[in-house]
Amino acid sequence: MAILTVENLHKNYGPIQALKGVSFSVPKGSVFGILGPNGSGKTTLLGIVLNVLKASSGSFKLFDEEPSHVHRQQIGTLLETPNFYHYLNAVQNLTIAATIKQRGSADINRVLELVNLEQRKFSKFSTYSLGMKQRLAIASSLLGDPDVLIFDEPTNGLDPVGIAETRELIKKLHQAGKTIIMASHLLDEVEKVCTHVAILQKGTLLTHGHVDEILITDEIVETGAANLQQLQNILQQYPGAKRVYVNDQHVELTFAAGTASLEALNRYCFEHGITLHHLRLRKKSLETKFFELTQNTK
Ligand code: ATP
Repeated sequence: MAILTVENLHKNYGPIQALKGVSFSVPKGSVFGILGPNGSGKTTLLGIVLNVLKASSGSFKLFDEEPSHVHRQQIGTLLETPNFYHYLNAVQNLTIAATIKQRGSADINRVLELVNLEQRKFSKFSTYSLGMKQRLAIASSLLGDPDVLIFDEPTNGLDPVGIAETRELIKKLHQAGKTIIMASHLLDEVEKVCTHVAILQKGTLLTHGHVDEILITDEIVETGAANLQQLQNILQQYPGAKRVYVNDQHVELTFAAGTASLEALNRYCFEHGITLHHLRLRKKSLETKFFELTQNTK
């Protein structure tokens, strides 16, 4: 079953095209990252799904059905840092949130335990660290135990400890069988916590799918020898290399994932009269991949 299916969504704000025909679907049980730089349309997309904004055209389904209030009741959301009352404690704040959402008033202790705020549940909100505030916001989204969670930039503004805590929490929720849809501009975050990713740029979906497939990364082998020019000449025709180029220090060869053999390359060079003094395998990072994807569309 698909939790969310988006079909050819367009959204214009006057002359600004925030979404230009976006289609993808979110499998049940996934941690689905919507990845894109600022202004790529992530918040707009989530706003449409949550009925805060209206699409200019296109459609979407929730739980394989026409979206309704009943479906949205099954979704917990964290859209921006919520306005908790500073002079109230966690239990009081969540009691108010549960009343507004009309769900989860019996659930407050459970969600506070889940986000590790049990010990501080009677402390005023104003005494919380940023990470604790964010965890309380996540606790609020978990009221009523929804199967689906939508988080917009869940680690925004947090320090490294807060970021790590939030990521652990997302992993825990995934292990408990929840489907999590999260917008992020952080490649590293998506790589660490998401099972699936959709990459948005300027309202256009560049690619989407399982993280392992999208991020199948090329392998780069760095080679170095006393005479780089000579090395480049003999490697130019090296079988299996997708690209051979020289920089200040090395000749670098790019191979499809899993196809680079350092031994074979070393032997080849030796047989062609060159002794390598440097030979190193490097994976192309997601960052490079993302950079390439976004550059190609300009
Ligand atoms: P960020 O991470 O910065 O929030 P985002 O990927 O969530 O970025 P959106 O906030 O969805 O992107 O914005 C997409 C585009 O639509 C941007 O060009 C933005 O300036 C524009 N936009 C968003 N909301 C409005 C609005 N209410 N009126 C006009 N333009 C808007």
